[in-house]
Amino acid sequence: MMKKVYIRTFGCQMNAHDSERVKDLLLNDGYCLSDEPEDADVLLFNTCSVRKNAEDRVFGVVNSLKRLRKKDPDVIFGIMGCMAEAHGRSIFERMGHVDFLCGPADLDKIPEIIEKIKKGQRGVVYCMDSRLRGNDKIPLFPEDRKIGKRVYVKIMEGCDNFCSYCVVPYVRGGERSRPSREILSEIKQLVDKEVKKITLLGQNVNSYGKGLKEDISFPELLRKIDITVKSNLVKSNQVRSGRLEIDFMTSHPKDASVDLFEAIAGLKSLSKQLHLPLQSGSNKILKRMNRGYTLEKYSKLVKDFRRIVKKGTITSDFIVGFPGETKKDFNDTLNTVKEIRFSGAYIFKYSSRPFTKASKFKDDVLTEEKERRHGLLLETQREISRNY
Ligand code: SAM
Ligand code: SF4
Repeated sequence: MMKKVYIRTFGCQMNAHDSERVKDLLLNDGYCLSDEPEDADVLLFNTCSVRKNAEDRVFGVVNSLKRLRKKDPDVIFGIMGCMAEAHGRSIFERMGHVDFLCGPADLDKIPEIIEKIKKGQRGVVYCMDSRLRGNDKIPLFPEDRKIGKRVYVKIMEGCDNFCSYCVVPYVRGGERSRPSREILSEIKQLVDKEVKKITLLGQNVNSYGKGLKEDISFPELLRKIDITVKSNLVKSNQVRSGRLEIDFMTSHPKDASVDLFEAIAGLKSLSKQLHLPLQSGSNKILKRMNRGYTLEKYSKLVKDFRRIVKKGTITSDFIVGFPGETKKDFNDTLNTVKEIRFSGAYIFKYSSRPFTKASKFKDDVLTEEKERRHGLLLETQREISRNY
């Protein structure tokens, strides 16, 4: 009988993409997918550590499924992704039925790990070593990968920015970019498969190219992608059957440029929507967050974007209740949101994360006050979004 695997993904698009990769590997290894944990022989959880409530949900869900181990002692539980890196072996103490941990850089080894568990090993750990900080290759999808109409293409991995609140550089390691020829060949395959939307993924796509042998910037990569899309749409006779749209996330304001905006404006395949997370409207807080830009620099970027990209829209992320955020700092954020008028924004309550610089700051905004600020900013933004 075919073995069944259940995969549940928490967190961002990067995790969704990583889970696709693991699914593909396991399908090629003879597994089939199960929609229900109760039917599966292997249960995998691709986890997120960006905020504490995301982690709490994982602990809640995985613990609630412990009963399946009691029913069938051979059922395998694996924790993949950022929580494996962030918490390491302590996960086995909190969830004794978990058999293995696998960090984001080792996901290609999942079939191998499952074989080890089947042979009787428990408590297998594949994470947190020097490879994460190094230049390991970003794995390639096989040509026969199963895809939908919207597909993610990873162009880079990891982050060197160390925003003071963020766990990503510690769990996903340092920045590494994929060579452009690999990306272009993946895009060509996807155009041939008639996908309608491709999202280029990276923690900070604007610093694409760092560390590569070739000298290439992100806007240059976008231009090459546009040429590849155009010529392959023509070759495969799809020009009239509808447009293929490319977008990307996430852009860091410190590395965004007029060159990028000109590429967005000028390239037909590119979406005119830009996600450019501001995080706070207070320069004091931006500095404490180690974001590397001021509100004035950000406002100038918005002005340039709107001048260059006609009908372009901008969305953002905000964190409220960051350590040291006073009512005045929060009001600066509120006023900035009203002034800039983003078409949409994700608003998060600050949560202290392990390893980060901000985890050493006093988390001094009370929970009720974080909730009040969150509600107020959310309502203000919703009203603006409704008018878009
Ligand atoms: N690389 C992207 C960037 O620089 O904008 C964002 C990546 S992060 C996974 C997505 C969003 O989560 C961030 O933009 C930030 O607003 C939020 N975030 C990250 N760490 C957080 C924390 N400790 N507490 C609350 N929100 C957080
Ligand atoms: Fe985290 Fe900052 Fe890197 Fe984004 S740029 S992943 S917020 S450290």
